Amino acid sequence: MDLDARTMLADSGLRITAPRVAVIDALVEMPHAAADAIFAKVSETLPRTSLQAVYNVLGDLATHGLARRIEPAGSPALYELRVGDNHHHVVCTHCGKVADVDCSVGHAPCLTPSETHGFAIAEAEVTYWGVCTECREASVATVH
Ligand SMILES: [Zn+2]
Ligand SMILES: [Zn+2]
Repeated sequence: MDLDARTMLADSGLRITAPRVAVIDALVEMPHAAADAIFAKVSETLPRTSLQAVYNVLGDLATHGLARRIEPAGSPALYELRVGDNHHHVVCTHCGKVADVDCSVGHAPCLTPSETHGFAIAEAEVTYWGVCTECREASVATVH
C-alpha cells in the first residue's frame, strides 16, 4: 500500500494542499484516530489549521475513498487509511483501543446474512468488543 500523501492525493484527483498532506501523514502514524487527535497532530506542523479545516479534509478524503470512517458505538468517529478491504475492528471496552481484524473470508462481504430483504449486500462491518491485553494485565495486577 502506497502511503505517500502527495501520490495518494494526485492519484485520486484531489489538489495537494498542506493540510491534506498533514492529515494523511497524521493518519499514517495514528490509524483509527479521532478528528481532535488528528487536529492536535496537524497543529504541530500547521499551527494555524482549525479543527473545522481538519474535519473538511477528513470529509474530502473519505468521499474520495482515501480514508475510511468508522464509528464504534460510544466513540467519536475514527479515521484510517486502510480502505477497500472490508476489514473489521476489535474495540477495547475499557480504554477504547482499536485494532484491525482481517475480513473473515478475505473478500467483501465476508458475512452472508440469513435474510437480505432483497438487498444486494456490498459490505459487512463487524465490531468485536473485548478487553485489550494492557487492560487485562492491569485488572489482574489490581486483583492480586
Ligand atoms: Zn484496553
Ligand atoms: Zn481499521
